[in-house]
Amino acid sequence: MQQEIIDWFEVEGRDLPWRQPDFTPWGSLVSEFMLQQTPVARVIPKLEEFLTRWPTPAALAASPSGDAVRAWANLGYPRRALWLHACAVTIVEKYNGEVPHNVEELLTLPGIGPYTARAIAVFAYGAHEPVVDTNIRRVIARHNQGNADQGPPSTTRDLEAMTALLPSPELSPVFNAGMMELGALICTARNPLCQACPIARTCAWKNAGYPEHVGPKKTIQKKYEGSDRQARGAVMKVLRESHRVVTTDELSAHWHDAAQLGRAISGLLKDGLIELVSDDSYQLPA
Ligand code: SF4
Repeated sequence: MQQEIIDWFEVEGRDLPWRQPDFTPWGSLVSEFMLQQTPVARVIPKLEEFLTRWPTPAALAASPSGDAVRAWANLGYPRRALWLHACAVTIVEKYNGEVPHNVEELLTLPGIGPYTARAIAVFAYGAHEPVVDTNIRRVIARHNQGNADQGPPSTTRDLEAMTALLPSPELSPVFNAGMMELGALICTARNPLCQACPIARTCAWKNAGYPEHVGPKKTIQKKYEGSDRQARGAVMKVLRESHRVVTTDELSAHWHDAAQLGRAISGLLKDGLIELVSDDSYQLPA
């Protein structure tokens, strides 16, 4: 399985910015933050803009966190921009401006969890570590375990499953990337392209005749339209685009439901994404 995936990836893997040989560890870190919740096609232009403006952790750390939130624009989940800024500050203060190499140190940085820490260690520094995202979990569930669906995540179990598959240290970064790419392009959630799959011959799920999933399902994300998350997005958009202090009255012209608007403002204040300037006016973090 390992060599088939590596051979397939070397031919079919997409030519993405973070796979270029001169891509920096800081670039890997920024791209991983952006890719946490946003599709590749939307990340690429924003990543280029972001890295042109802030090519190093020191450059971002020297700017106000509100600039990072504004530059995050419509990537969604803007708390990631605050964490990224906090990460840059910590890297400058604790690591002399260099993105740390090992998983333990990376895990101490704000906004970095088990997936992101390993992805940076592996893709930026070539570490011999398992990287486990949804795509990899789905490939393992189908090919190795014969299940249609990966079910809910479990960090310990998922890392063990991928660790058991890792080839030699020299090959494990490309194997991690290949597994991820296979799940993104071929072994997709809805329509797996088994006829184009390099590991179809040994796939337990395919060879069992594609049995239906049994057991716990993945959690389904709530509808965005009309949600509190959309109300937060509307408030953030006004503040990002206005470049000034904005009042509640002005915000209410952009969101019709007063109770939801109130919840959105309170939540954003609590998360540090906006700041209270006077009784009822707000701005991005200074
Ligand atoms: S054969 Fe089909 S189900 Fe099995 S790993 Fe490949 S794409 Fe996924």
